[in-house]
Amino acid sequence: MCATCGCGHSHEVITLEQRVLAKNDELAATNRSFLEMNEITAINVMSSPGSGKTTLLERSIRDLPGKRIAVIEGDQETTLDAERIRSTGCPVVQINTGAGCHLDAAMLRDAIDRLQPERRALLFVENVGNLVCPALFDLGERGKVVVISVTEGTDKPLKYPYMFATADLVVVNKVDLMPYVDFDLGACRAQVASVNPKAEVLAVSATRGDNLDSWYDWLAAA
Ligand code: MG
Ligand code: ZN
Repeated sequence: MCATCGCGHSHEVITLEQRVLAKNDELAATNRSFLEMNEITAINVMSSPGSGKTTLLERSIRDLPGKRIAVIEGDQETTLDAERIRSTGCPVVQINTGAGCHLDAAMLRDAIDRLQPERRALLFVENVGNLVCPALFDLGERGKVVVISVTEGTDKPLKYPYMFATADLVVVNKVDLMPYVDFDLGACRAQVASVNPKAEVLAVSATRGDNLDSWYDWLAAA
């Protein structure tokens, strides 16, 4: 766990956390103006580990050959996901956070400097797999997407309300596995609506292709 996630409860930790978040918000504002100036649409993709973020991005890149897409991958260690994205021919940079459990605005800026995305690119930022503190750190992105998979159970929006409250879109992935798991899509939609009435919910399968057109329509509108 990193020291900036609010895990501690002492006065010093809370003050430190507020300072860290204020500094992050400043850098996020700088990122936002840089991205807007270059007409780059950055989408922050968040989820728990194993929800299928990288698979969804790989599939999207292959399905949208006409689009200028670039990817920033966040993980604690390894370049495995960046290698998967690179195999599609898409420009990609990996951020390794080590002991840290989220991306912040400074890391995004550094990654953008290394990646040099083209003007008008669609920039996917795959956050570290974690449903807790990535919700606290604005990166300067245009939109926030939370991915959950049907194998995780129905109750995640109520258990991790801060994450779902920040989402513009919730993607429920792996619907092809619905026959084999106990997942109630209607109840999950209701839970999302209870913590965030404005969030859209799309149920998809990144491997089988179900409803990906709705995801591509959402991206086009973003
Ligand atoms: Mg991944
Ligand atoms: Zn963290």
